[in-house]
Amino acid sequence: MSIEPMKIAVLGAGLTGLELGRKLGELGEDFIILEKEPQVGGLCRTNKTGEYYWDFAVHAIYSRSKEAMDFFNSLPLEYQHSDRNVKIFIFGKSKKRYCIEYPFENGVRELPLKEKLECVLGYLAGRITKRKANNLEEWIDNSLGFGIAKYFMVPYNSKIWNCNLSDISLDLVSAKIEPASAIKFIKSVFWEKTVGRKYQSKFIYPRKGIQALCDYITKDIKNNIRLCSSVERLTRQGSKWTIAVSDGGVFEADMIISTIPLVELLKKVDISGIEKEYKELKWNNTFFIMVGLKKGSKFNLINDCHWVFFKGDEIFYRITLMHNFSNEFLPTLVAEVTEKGDILDKTKDEIKNAVVKDLLRIGILGSLNEIAETDIKRVGYTYAIPSVGLNDIKIKIKNLLEKHNLFLVGRNGNWDYINMDGVYLKVRDSLPEILKKVAHP
Ligand SMILES: Cc1cc2nc3c(=O)[nH]c(=O)nc-3n(C[C@H](O)[C@H](O)[C@H](O)COP(=O)(O)OP(=O)(O)OC[C@H]3O[C@@H](n4cnc5c(N)ncnc54)[C@H](O)[C@@H]3O)c2cc1C
Repeated sequence: MSIEPMKIAVLGAGLTGLELGRKLGELGEDFIILEKEPQVGGLCRTNKTGEYYWDFAVHAIYSRSKEAMDFFNSLPLEYQHSDRNVKIFIFGKSKKRYCIEYPFENGVRELPLKEKLECVLGYLAGRITKRKANNLEEWIDNSLGFGIAKYFMVPYNSKIWNCNLSDISLDLVSAKIEPASAIKFIKSVFWEKTVGRKYQSKFIYPRKGIQALCDYITKDIKNNIRLCSSVERLTRQGSKWTIAVSDGGVFEADMIISTIPLVELLKKVDISGIEKEYKELKWNNTFFIMVGLKKGSKFNLINDCHWVFFKGDEIFYRITLMHNFSNEFLPTLVAEVTEKGDILDKTKDEIKNAVVKDLLRIGILGSLNEIAETDIKRVGYTYAIPSVGLNDIKIKIKNLLEKHNLFLVGRNGNWDYINMDGVYLKVRDSLPEILKKVAHP
C-alpha cells in the first residue's frame, strides 16, 4: 500500500472545499481535495432528469456584502438577473387560497380583516411589553406577536425544523430574520406595499444551473480533486495525519481542513477529549422532489414565483420554480420535504406520490397528464439546527481539533447556517488564519 504525502488535505468538494482549493492553488500550496461523490458541488449541484434541470431547491445568489457579490459577478458565467418574487401560500377556510407577499409581515395586508388585526395587535403588544427572549419560540411571540406567530412563524418553522422552537437559539434570528420596524410594518399593513430585506430583493443565478458555478471554480484545480473518495478514518501519528479513503487509498498530510458534516467527521477521528456524538449537534435531512411539466404546460397559482413557502398540512414546506431562475429551463418545480415523522416509514415513490397528490389537491397541478418527469433525491445535513447551547460545544470541539492542525470551515463543516456568500466570506477570512497558525504554531 503506497501512502501519498502532501501538506494539506481538504475534505469535501462542495462550494467551501472548492473555494478553499481555488485559493490554495493561487498560493501555490501542495493540497488534495477528497470528495465522496462522483461529482463536485455538494449542496450546489444541478441534477438532470430527462431534459429537466433542477437544483436542491433555491440557489439564488444575493448578499449584504458587496465584496461577496463582486466575487460572484467577476466569474465569467452567464447569469440571469431576477427581481425576487417569493410568496407564502395559505389554504384558508372554505378552501380559499391566498398567495401573499414574503416576508410574512409584508403579506399581512393581504389577509382577511380578523387575521390582519390579530397580527397588528400582537405586533404592537410585543413592542410595548419588550420582554426578553431566550429562544426562537419566545422571540417570535415577543417580537412579532401572537398573530404572526399563529398564522405563519410557528407552523412554518415547526414544519421545516422538526424540533421544539424553544430548542432553537437566537442565533437563527441574528443570522436569518430581520423584522421590520413597527412604523414600517403598520404602514405596510394599512397604506403602502413595502419591499422587505432590500439586499434580497434581487439575485443572480447561472443560466446553466448552480453546478456551473462549482464547475467553473474547479477548472484550474481539477488535478487536485479526487472524486469517489469517501474519507473513512483519520489517524494522528506524530505531527502527521493519515487519511484512509473508501477505495483503499491512503494519504498523509500536515494539516486537514474539513468541510464535511461535523458529525460525520467526529465519527472518523480519534483524538482524546473529543466525543463521537454530542446531543447539541442536531440537524435535518431533506427529500427534494422534482416535477417537470410537458412543454407548453404551466403550474397554476405560483407559476411566476421563484419560490413559495407552505405552512399548512401540505407534505412540503417550500416549492422552487426552476424555470424562473433560468429561462433555459423547462417548467419544473422542486418540493422540499423534511425527513421526519411518518415520512420515515415511506418509500421514495410513496413520498413522490404524496407530493403530486398535494399539488393536485391544492390546485398547483391541473392534472396528472401534464407531468412529463418526476424524480426524488434525499440529501443529508441540509439544515444544522442552531440549537440552544450549540456555540459552547462548537468552540470546545474546534479548539481541541485545531491543536492537532484539523480546521473546520463551511456550512456543514463548521455547523453554520450560511449561504453561498457566507461560504465565500468564511473562506476568505479563515484561510489566511489557518495557514498562519500552522506556520507559527
Ligand atoms: C435547501 C437549501 C437551499 C439553499 N438555498 C440557498 C440560496 O438560495 N442561496 C445561497 O446562497 N445558499 C443557499 N443554500 C446554502 C448553500 O447550499 C451552502 O451554503 C453551500 O452549498 C455550502 O457548501 P459546503 O461546501 O460548505 O457544504 P456541502 O455542499 O455540504 O459540501 C460538503 C461536501 O463534502 C462531501 N462529503 C461528505 N462526507 C464526506 C466524506 N466522508 N468524504 C469525502 N467527502 C464527503 C459532500 O459530498 C459534499 O460535496 C441552500 C442550502 C440548502 C440546503
